[in-house]
Amino acid sequence: MQCPECKSKHIRKNGKNRQGKQNYICVNCERQFIENYEPHLGYSNEFKRECLKMYVNGMGLRAIERVKGVHHTTVITWVREVGELLPDTYEPEAIPQVGELDELETFIGHKKTRFGSGRQ
Ligand SMILES: [Zn+2]
Repeated sequence: MQCPECKSKHIRKNGKNRQGKQNYICVNCERQFIENYEPHLGYSNEFKRECLKMYVNGMGLRAIERVKGVHHTTVITWVREVGELLPDTYEPEAIPQVGELDELETFIGHKKTRFGSGRQ
């Protein structure tokens, strides 16, 4: 068990939340978090991160379930967990969608090509 913020192992118990889950607080940076941050249900943090990345990139929960073979309610649980751990200012909308990134790359690629051919 370590702090999700600064990775310090200097943590102590900090009461329980409304769902009866153990709360922890980091002695080092005073970050509060819940014990469920640790991997559970047999999935690794890496696997969870992949699923959550798909989710924030606009992929549907059913689609993630089909691709990753993880039940969509499990993904919802992870999304909620991460939501509790993230600062209030975090906005998933601020992360560019995959489609937008593609457009941007096409645009940059197009500009480069025009610039290159104009010089020759
Ligand atoms: Zn910390």
